[in-house]
Amino acid sequence: MIATGSGDGWVHCAQGHKHWGVFGAAGLLVRFRADGDPPGVDRILLQHRAAWSHHGGTWGIPGGARDRGESAPATALREAGEESTLDVGAVEIMDSYVDDHGGWTYTTVVVRAVEAPPVRVRGTESIELRWVRTDHLGGLELHPGFATTWPRVRRIGTL
Ligand SMILES: [Zn+2]
Repeated sequence: MIATGSGDGWVHCAQGHKHWGVFGAAGLLVRFRADGDPPGVDRILLQHRAAWSHHGGTWGIPGGARDRGESAPATALREAGEESTLDVGAVEIMDSYVDDHGGWTYTTVVVRAVEAPPVRVRGTESIELRWVRTDHLGGLELHPGFATTWPRVRRIGTL
């Protein structure tokens, strides 16, 4: 596993959680603002996580384990491309936010899309991908990591 540079594997952080990704993990937060959305509101692409996955059934962002030496944006774009039909070549990187748990980090890479076509599932890690208005997140059961991170990243990359 290490020889190939794969980061697949579980680690325990200094806060006592169990996390996926021995070199940390990264996720892609894709934002899109539609004409007619209320002031301060845009849409983000959320992944309904497969039941078998860690925190299965919750809603989060596409992402996964970083490979050895892989940058967080590279991981986030690679994972989103593996897990969905999103055109990851057509998004603009705005900024990143690092959540450092001690011994493990999760980097949220915030990007903007210029359009929001329907995004379909690739692979087995998702039930559905959906554009969700940011004022409608309260109706979904969010992945605990994303629920913690969202208030810290919600202003990054807004127009
Ligand atoms: Zn942790």
